[in-house]
Amino acid sequence: MLLANIEDYIKAGRIAAEVREHMRKRYHVSRTLLDICEEAEGMIRAKGGEPAFPCNVSLNEVAAHYTAEPNDSIEVKEGDILKIDIGVHVNGSIADTAVTACYNPSYNILVEAAEHALKEAIRVARAGVKASDIGRVIEHTIKSYGLKPIQNLSGHSITRYTIHAGKSIPNIWTIGSFSLQQGEVYAIEPFVTTGDGAGVVYNGEVSNIYSIVSRKRTGSKEADTFLDMLWDRFKTLPFALRWLSDSNDVNHAREMISFLLKKKVVKAYPVLVEGNNRYVAQAEHTIVPTMEGAVVITA
Ligand code: MN
Ligand code: MN
Repeated sequence: MLLANIEDYIKAGRIAAEVREHMRKRYHVSRTLLDICEEAEGMIRAKGGEPAFPCNVSLNEVAAHYTAEPNDSIEVKEGDILKIDIGVHVNGSIADTAVTACYNPSYNILVEAAEHALKEAIRVARAGVKASDIGRVIEHTIKSYGLKPIQNLSGHSITRYTIHAGKSIPNIWTIGSFSLQQGEVYAIEPFVTTGDGAGVVYNGEVSNIYSIVSRKRTGSKEADTFLDMLWDRFKTLPFALRWLSDSNDVNHAREMISFLLKKKVVKAYPVLVEGNNRYVAQAEHTIVPTMEGAVVITA
């Protein structure tokens, strides 16, 4: 593998996999989303990594991008399907992986299809394979269950301190594509919904994950100081309000974030909701393609 920082990737991948497997085995019904996020992020830190983004805990028709608010009281209920998406970085080298916990037997098949599609995608992934061919395999596998892939969510290339580094690994066959490169890092992440789902997500009302887009001065000394603090802590990586309320008063942090959003130096990631409000499952691994096949760093 032609990765200079391969040791960091391997460590990030091992930590992410351990936390994901812990989350897979644990029974989450009656737990708050806040408790789940804090446990995942605490485990990452205890194992010597840093969260690469706030733990995503997306319920039911929310496909992605929900993280717990400070004091979030939402609980997982019997009948829910919960995507737990975990990011770990070690010196900026990122591993991204996800698992779906399902407490509704009628949706077990969504989870099975997502896991199966991921497995098939990894089977064909290697240096030189077109991303569109991976998308075709994912789409074909999901449709063989009579289910639908979410076509506007995709896997992605990963670079240092950048989770979405510009290249997309689609979950459907798409025209125009690139070939996977040896020494690059990619997340593959099929999302599955029911046959009567829209197969697309739209932006929901809630946003509680943010990242810095510019360090340009805002005209407010207080906001600039806050922005510099965010940069020191997170660089280009996403963060949550929750992470700011230990050292700052949460209302102050909320005010600062909303000002920085207005100044367009910080952006928000809205929750992504299935188009027909149907339930969604997800599976995800991070891989490094070689000529022989894919090395799964989050295995
Ligand atoms: Mn992820
Ligand atoms: Mn991802």
